[in-house]
Amino acid sequence: MRTQVVIIGSGPSGLLLGQLLGNAGIDNVVLDRVAKNYILGRVRAGVLEEGTVGLLKDASADMRMREEGLPHDGFSLAFDGRDHRIDLFALTGKRVMVYGQTELTRDLMDRREATGGVSIYEATNVMPHDFGGGRPYVTYEKDGVTHRIDCDFIAGCDGYHGISRKSVPERSIATFERTYPFGWLGVLADVPPVSHELIYANHPRGFALCSMRSASRSRYYIQCPLDEKVENWSDDCFYDELRRRLPTTHAQALVVGPSFEKSIAPLRSFVAEPMRFGSLFLVGDAAHIVPPTGAKGLNLAASDVHYLFEGLRDHYLDHTQTALDAYSERALRRVWKSVRFSWSMTTLMHRFPEGGDFGQKIQEAELDYLTHSDAAARSLAENYVGLPY
Ligand SMILES: Cc1cc2nc3c(=O)[nH]c(=O)nc-3n(C[C@H](O)[C@H](O)[C@H](O)COP(=O)(O)OP(=O)(O)OC[C@H]3O[C@@H](n4cnc5c(N)ncnc54)[C@H](O)[C@@H]3O)c2cc1C
Repeated sequence: MRTQVVIIGSGPSGLLLGQLLGNAGIDNVVLDRVAKNYILGRVRAGVLEEGTVGLLKDASADMRMREEGLPHDGFSLAFDGRDHRIDLFALTGKRVMVYGQTELTRDLMDRREATGGVSIYEATNVMPHDFGGGRPYVTYEKDGVTHRIDCDFIAGCDGYHGISRKSVPERSIATFERTYPFGWLGVLADVPPVSHELIYANHPRGFALCSMRSASRSRYYIQCPLDEKVENWSDDCFYDELRRRLPTTHAQALVVGPSFEKSIAPLRSFVAEPMRFGSLFLVGDAAHIVPPTGAKGLNLAASDVHYLFEGLRDHYLDHTQTALDAYSERALRRVWKSVRFSWSMTTLMHRFPEGGDFGQKIQEAELDYLTHSDAAARSLAENYVGLPY
């Protein structure tokens, strides 16, 4: 088989790239090692920047999101027993869209199917070859048979644990990493959210986040030790702890119900540089990971797609290479700013084991500053709604 671009990974970045390329008449094949339904069962991100929303429109995959997504004009920072609203729209003229990654993925998969895009699921032993030379190709196995796809370019959209980054010789890649000494215990439940906007709570007992996927589905998180076990947390224990970390009005208003997903996620900042190796491009989580505190992971995957799509479109349609050659540099400039923001939000909102009471007081002082200085609030809001591409 031959195509123009092989996309490894059918997560948000692979599907979005595939759809933009397909709409521009550029042939592509998407390969994923797991089944479609498995991908649709993964509960992850839920806050979309306007840039991401715009890309979904360009991909003609935004119809359901426009109807069912929840546009948010602000969010709350809760500390010292009170709630302080950051008015995103007043500060930046922009808003964010709350729409689950699962739904976004489903919309992109449906669109791909409707437009005849080729996706191969449960493709094992996917391997990119010869991306440093002139004849790149990808091999994979399906039902015991080995296949080969020749191509011009390979997009490594296969997440942090994928094969694309691992295929690059170690001497050609630099990595930067910070792990955090805690995780997030999260539950998903079909109960109305405690507030119509997100609440990020800084509390001496630890961070808490009240988020949602829809008007009737809530996503709640609490900071927990890294070695915590999900089995140790009944729903009642979880909700009791969440209540303790929220201002009284929210704690009293919390509607509880059985969770249908409960998991612990570790927090990490990670960047691999560069993001291009000959005809192999790393995109999204394959190249970088951020802690979810700033809601940036999925949005960064989308901005990478924007830069790579521009480069590939110019290559095929205008026969110019400038944008493609600039991919890694352009993407990384934005990546590092989001890594900085996610790190700063994480540092501001969580209880660090070594921080002590002094650390807590410094955080409260900074939160007070952020919520009483227009300049500080504007900077926070500008980063939260997403820096321009
Ligand atoms: C538990 C969790 C919670 C998160 N919460 C948030 C959040 O609240 N907000 C936020 O913005 N972000 C969040 N994120 C991050 C966000 O989900 C990711 O940034 C986003 O999924 C990145 O999309 P991607 O397409 O680059 O990678 P992925 O979504 O990881 O997709 C990669 C795809 O590649 C496939 N693949 C992997 N290896 C191979 C291989 N060898 N061969 C073929 N296919 C392969 C995988 O099966 C997968 O389908 C969270 C992530 C996790 C793990």
